[in-house]
Amino acid sequence: MTGRLRIGPDGASWDPDEGYRTCSVCGGDCEPEPTGADGLGVRILWVCPDHGVHSVVDPFEKLREADRRERGEA
Ligand SMILES: [Zn+2]
Repeated sequence: MTGRLRIGPDGASWDPDEGYRTCSVCGGDCEPEPTGADGLGVRILWVCPDHGVHSVVDPFEKLREADRRERGEA
């Protein structure tokens, strides 16, 4: 897995964007850790082996925003 998880009409895919996987402290390459423990949907945690979690990506955020707009809750 090299890049960002992206959700599209064809399902999930990895975007070649490298921004999320680089640790802001050491610039090192990080490992994505999928999690869904908060009950609100999947999050991708980018974890540096030396500095811990440095990024949280919500691949469904835009889908939820669109859903809220459709229901007039935005
Ligand atoms: Zn680091």
